[in-house]
Amino acid sequence: MNVLVLNAGSSSLKYQLINVESQTVMAKGICERVGSGEAFHKHGLDDNEHVIDAPMRDHNEAMALVLEALTSGPTKAIDSLDEIDAIGHRVVQGGKYFDRSVLIDDDVVSKIDELAELAPLHNKAALMGINACREQMPGKPMVAVFDTSFFQTLLPKAYMYPLPYELYEKHSIRKYGAHGTSHRYIAQRAADFLDEPLDDLKIITCHLGNGCSMSAIDHGVAIDTSMGLTPLDGLMMGTRCGAIDPAIVPFIMEHEGLTAAEVNDLMNKQSGLLGISGLSNDLRTVRTASEEGHERAQLAYDMYSYSVKKYIGQYIAVMGGVDVIVLSAGVGENCDKMRRMIFTGLQPLGIKLDLEKNKLRGGEREISTDDSEVQILVIPTNEEYMIALDTFDLMFEGEA
Ligand code: ADP
Repeated sequence: MNVLVLNAGSSSLKYQLINVESQTVMAKGICERVGSGEAFHKHGLDDNEHVIDAPMRDHNEAMALVLEALTSGPTKAIDSLDEIDAIGHRVVQGGKYFDRSVLIDDDVVSKIDELAELAPLHNKAALMGINACREQMPGKPMVAVFDTSFFQTLLPKAYMYPLPYELYEKHSIRKYGAHGTSHRYIAQRAADFLDEPLDDLKIITCHLGNGCSMSAIDHGVAIDTSMGLTPLDGLMMGTRCGAIDPAIVPFIMEHEGLTAAEVNDLMNKQSGLLGISGLSNDLRTVRTASEEGHERAQLAYDMYSYSVKKYIGQYIAVMGGVDVIVLSAGVGENCDKMRRMIFTGLQPLGIKLDLEKNKLRGGEREISTDDSEVQILVIPTNEEYMIALDTFDLMFEGEA
C-alpha cells in the first residue's frame, strides 16, 4: 500500500510517499514559503533532488505542484494518482478528543478546527492540507495522526496545572504534550531492538532536535512528558526557552515594554541555544564555538545537557526506576559530545555510557556498557513511517 504522508505547516507543505509493506520512501519533498513571492518546491530523493521556483498562492496550489511532480517529469514516482492508496496527515493538536489516529470525516475535520484555538497555526495548516487533498483527490481515504494522542494516557495529576480549576474548564488549559508520534515510534523500536515486550519496560524517550521533548513510558503507557499546553514547555531547545519561572513573562512585558505576542515570540524564536550563545540554534555551530573558547556557547551547551539530565532524574522518580533510555532526533542521534555530557555523573543510578560505543555512528544501536543496569539506545526517529503505518492499519481495520 502506498501512503502519501503530509505535514502541513503555516507556510510549508512537507510530504513523503511511502510504500508501507517494503518500508521504502518512493518520493519526498517540501514546498516552502507558500503564499509568498519566494515560494519554492524541493522534490526528490537525496541523490536526485530538484529545486523548482514556483508560484504557490496557497496550500491548494502547493498540493497541485506536489501531485504533478509525483506523477510526471524527471522526478516521477508513480504513473497516476490511483497508485496513492491513502493519505496520512500529521495534525499537531488532538486535544481531549483523539487518543489515537482516526479516519478523517466531517466530524473529525470540525473537531480539528475547534482545537485550532489551542494550536492556531498548526491545526489551521493541517486543515488546509486536508482541504487541498479533498479538492484534488476526492474520495481518497485520509487519516489524521495527532502529535498529542500518545499522551492522552497521562493522569490528571500529571496533566493538570496548579492554576484555578475554572481555567481548565473554560479554556481546556492542561498539558497535552507533543512529538507523540516520535516518542511512540522510538519506544516501540527500542523494545523491538531489545527483543522484549514494550509492556515489560520502563522507558525514558528523549527527542532532541531543534524542538526537544522527553517522556516517561511505564510498561507501554505514557505517564509524563515535558511539553505542555504548547511545545514551548520543558527542555531548553534550539530557539525555545522551555520551562522558566512564569513570573518572568509579566516582568519582561513590563520592563521591556513588550506585548504578550512579542514575549511569546521571544520565548519561541529568540531563546534556547540561540538566545544563550547569541550565535545559532544549531548545536554544531554552538559546539564548534565552545571548543574555540566562546564562553556563552559553552554555557549554552552546559545548560542544554543539564536540562536533559534533570528530566532523566524526574522520570526515574515518577516511574520508580528505568530500564532503557532512548535518544533520538538530530542531536540525540548525532552528537556524541552532548550524549557524554548528559550521562556524565549518572553512574550511581546504574546508567553507564560506553565512551567508545558512543563515538560510533550508524542506525539503531546500544551505547551503554555491558555492565550498565540501564540500557542506553540511539534510535533514529521516523515519524513519517509511523504516520504511514497508522494509515495502513486504519485502512485495514476499515476493510476487516
Ligand atoms: P527538527 O526538530 O527541526 O526536526 P532535527 O531533528 O533535524 O530537528 O535536529 C536538528 C538539530 O540537530 C540541530 O540543532 C543540529 O545542530 C543538530 N545536529 C544534527 N547533526 C548533528 C551533529 N552531527 N552534531 C551535533 N548536532 C547535530
